[in-house]
Amino acid sequence: MKSATRYFLTVTLGAGLSASLLAQGIQYDKIEIKTEKVAPNLYMLSGSEGVDPGHPDGAGGRIGVLAGPDGILMVDAQYLQIGEKVLAAIRRIDQGPIRFLVNTHVHGDHTAGNATFAKLGAVILAREELREAMTRTPGNPAANAPARDPARLPVLTYGMGDPLRLRMNGETVELIPVRAAHTGGDTMIRFVNADAIMIGDFYRNFGYPFIDVGNGGSLKGALEALELTMKIAGPNTKLIPGHGTFINRTDIIPYRDMMVAVREKVQQLIAQGKSEEEVVAAKVTAPYDAKVPGGLLPANTGGGTSADRFVRMVYSQLKAGGK
Ligand SMILES: [Zn+2]
Repeated sequence: MKSATRYFLTVTLGAGLSASLLAQGIQYDKIEIKTEKVAPNLYMLSGSEGVDPGHPDGAGGRIGVLAGPDGILMVDAQYLQIGEKVLAAIRRIDQGPIRFLVNTHVHGDHTAGNATFAKLGAVILAREELREAMTRTPGNPAANAPARDPARLPVLTYGMGDPLRLRMNGETVELIPVRAAHTGGDTMIRFVNADAIMIGDFYRNFGYPFIDVGNGGSLKGALEALELTMKIAGPNTKLIPGHGTFINRTDIIPYRDMMVAVREKVQQLIAQGKSEEEVVAAKVTAPYDAKVPGGLLPANTGGGTSADRFVRMVYSQLKAGGK
């Protein structure tokens, strides 16, 4: 009863908050950057709560900073509009040159700020698929960026296969390509000595999974990415999603199981001849809604709640013959 009441409060407060947020759009001037140290030379930067309708739990995508005498490696670059604030947060950690910037995936809350750091000398690395998607997309509406600046584009690209490794600051950084998951060009970034992996957005702990099929993502690939993460992570490895709280590999199990269960349920309804609207109306995520923070909040794309968006995606993937 107690937890049901708390859940009700969270949902209603969250819905009210989100409705007013949606009306205001992203309030860039209110975003502040928080810095968290995860290892002696590895830091995570994230935006403030309650100012980004797509990410009420923390504005924009998380940034990683590996600092030290060999220069700085960044993971992701947040929104273009807050470049000065991100740079100031990095400068509070280290004054050295920003040499490399790796993108986890194409979305504007992770890449819109790329040009700012490229102009400071950073070499941008990413999957070839990410670069292609970036040249296709005339700016990401979620990021509201002008976004045609060629400086934003990755300079060094790679495909699937063995991880690309960078050795600097006593750390081995592995860029691990992931088969089409959250998008078609996802990369996990593993810091071997720090025992931490930035996993991007194929896992999230605020809202239901978002698989961006329009940018090459797939349900099958997302499930494979989760398996791969569980395989390469040790019991104490810090798994750091693009948004939300840190997890470890055991946290992935219920998430994966939920995705598989929803997929089964949707598959059954498709076999019964149900339409997409009927499948959405069946509320197949109901058994999980109380356990998914933000799951019933409006999604920032696609209309409806994040649960509805997830179910529509599963439906379309199954209809298209994906598993
Ligand atoms: Zn994303």
